[in-house]
Amino acid sequence: MILLLFGPPGCGKGTQAAFLSNRFHIPAISTGEMFRAELKAGTELGQKASAIMAAGGLVGDDIVNAMVANRIARPDCANGFLLDGYPRTVPQAQQLSDLLAQRGLPQPVVIHMEVEDRVLVTRLTSRRQCPKCLKIYNLLSQAPRFAGVCDEDGTKLLTREDDQESVIRDRLHAYQQLTGPVLDWFGPARVRTVDGAQSTEEVAKAIEEIVLQATGAPVFVRR
Ligand SMILES: [Zn+2]
Repeated sequence: MILLLFGPPGCGKGTQAAFLSNRFHIPAISTGEMFRAELKAGTELGQKASAIMAAGGLVGDDIVNAMVANRIARPDCANGFLLDGYPRTVPQAQQLSDLLAQRGLPQPVVIHMEVEDRVLVTRLTSRRQCPKCLKIYNLLSQAPRFAGVCDEDGTKLLTREDDQESVIRDRLHAYQQLTGPVLDWFGPARVRTVDGAQSTEEVAKAIEEIVLQATGAPVFVRR
């Protein structure tokens, strides 16, 4: 079971990745975690990547691809894995596809969580953060008990720089520029689109059904 999960910032992808990981007993692997693990272990790849990042550069496809190849060879990936945030580019997608073929593994199930920009902008601009304890609130779904102040310490809540509308629109645009060609490369026959504007539970159910159908995994009746 090899899953790729795509979705724009604010779509709730992290929550769904955690759900899928629990539901199917597979690791949810994000590139950020992979980087940190390599850096911490002080591997040659990690040292290369940290030297590039220290010099203010972008880590190239070759290093990222090598990290993914190492990571998915680990024993916890024996039953499958979920990749979150990878592949980010068409060459990475090509490389992943080749790698899976070389190892005799199935091609991935590609899940795309689609949410309209308008909805994402509303969600993300409703976020507030306590500058003291860093707790995050959302005026729509997780409002503080008293308007404008932190439940924990009464500090006045702020909008983070990242959650300003212009910044969000730039991030959404960057996401589409990057991910559009990757999804096109996989093609409409492989990409399964889920309406990410539904509730977290509904999205989870829709994704679960896609995975079960695509992998032919046995369906257990939940009581
Ligand atoms: Zn606080």
